[in-house]
Amino acid sequence: MALIVQKYGGTSVGSTDRIRSVARRVARFHREGHQLVVVVSAMSGETNRLLALAKEIAPDPDPRELDVIAATGEQVTIGLLAIALHELGLKAKSYTGGQVRVLTDSAFTKARILDINVEPLHKDLAAGAIVIVAGFQGVDADGNITTLGRGGSDTSGVALAAALGASECQIYTDVDGVYTTDPRIVPEARRLDRITFEEMLEMASLGSKVLQIRSVEFAGKYKIKMRVLSSFDDPESTATGTLITYEEDETMEQAIISGIAFNRDEAKISLMGVEDRPGVAYAILGPVAAANIDVDMIVQNIGASGHTDFSFTVHRSEYQKALEVLSREKGKGFTAREIISDNKICKVSLVGIGMRSHVGIAAKMFKALADEGINIQMISTSEIKTSVVIDEKYLELAVRQLHRVFELDQSPQAVWTRNTRISEAFVWTDRHEGG
Ligand code: ADP
Ligand code: ASP
Ligand code: MG
Repeated sequence: MALIVQKYGGTSVGSTDRIRSVARRVARFHREGHQLVVVVSAMSGETNRLLALAKEIAPDPDPRELDVIAATGEQVTIGLLAIALHELGLKAKSYTGGQVRVLTDSAFTKARILDINVEPLHKDLAAGAIVIVAGFQGVDADGNITTLGRGGSDTSGVALAAALGASECQIYTDVDGVYTTDPRIVPEARRLDRITFEEMLEMASLGSKVLQIRSVEFAGKYKIKMRVLSSFDDPESTATGTLITYEEDETMEQAIISGIAFNRDEAKISLMGVEDRPGVAYAILGPVAAANIDVDMIVQNIGASGHTDFSFTVHRSEYQKALEVLSREKGKGFTAREIISDNKICKVSLVGIGMRSHVGIAAKMFKALADEGINIQMISTSEIKTSVVIDEKYLELAVRQLHRVFELDQSPQAVWTRNTRISEAFVWTDRHEGG
């Protein structure tokens, strides 16, 4: 018998039929003798609908009130799932974030979890009940309702698993695991049986929305066994989805590149002809940071005749605000000949821990993009990723081309075996022709 946390996303609870199907799966795990805490999202589209209602009334609503509104979506699905389980003859009890006391800070619309009171949940479990908890929401020390950022139910699931000491956190969604890239863009994308925590963290932070980044950070911090699975399989299915692992796989199964992530939510700002002197980067980005705007990539050219060009990217939703800050500061902290901006860009990234031990990956990536006539506007690299900024209109083309060139549709085993045969053949030829 194990204590398992299962999280079901929006499409998985998108209709009463889907909720009945979730109930059947939960019932099966219960029948197998497990204790279950089930975290649910709002029905698909519901959070968007609720937030749009608020924006019909005011363009920039008070974040506290937005959270009051958005949190209602999950309150509906917890009640519906509890009723569906009762219909199957099971004991089930639903809790909102505030009722559990998922304590968060007061950063409305992007709150962080500080503590979870799991005692009452353990009591319910011991009494044979299935516990259902609303994802995405919590409460601050003053009793205000808070939400955890879009996609935040993943984080609720992992945080509950950590607090309860659960043996596993299963994330049920509309795909049967983590793929080499978004299967909606590349139909040949391949499901990974396992992915390392480091790679998953990069994939999530570079735009793969299959898991919210904070949930992966949380899982890493508490070493939670996390698995991504499909809720659309038969409820009796024994599919194992994708496991997020904490050890690097030393075997030859390990691919050099595990996946491709992309992000359309970026915008680029370039300051042309900035004075090239110590402190200029701070003069530009200091006010941007002070306005609470996150900066992602930064590129500064080598200056010529005392001037340089300085570019950086920000989230598209903060782009206007960043431009306002810069035009206000221009001529005060720094001078610039011109400020150019582009909000029709995207970022495409290759991710893989194998990059640490293989050279030439970035060059191969740049060639693959050049072969399709795609211009690279910015580049950034780390030990396990290479990202490029390109024109948004090339996003699909770039992702498909990279997926093909890096042979991500084939198992690493197949690619490895083929390459080994080729190199053995060369050895054989060399030996025979040479001698
Ligand atoms: P949920 O509502 O269950 O939280 P999400 O829409 O947040 O589901 O996440 C699942 C979606 O993530 C999939 O439908 C898929 O289109 C997308 N996705 C993006 N990148 C990947 C990837 N690498 N592997 C699998 N799914 C991905
Ligand atoms: N319902 C919330 C959202 O749409 C949280 C989630 O689905 O994880 O962002
Ligand atoms: Mg999600």
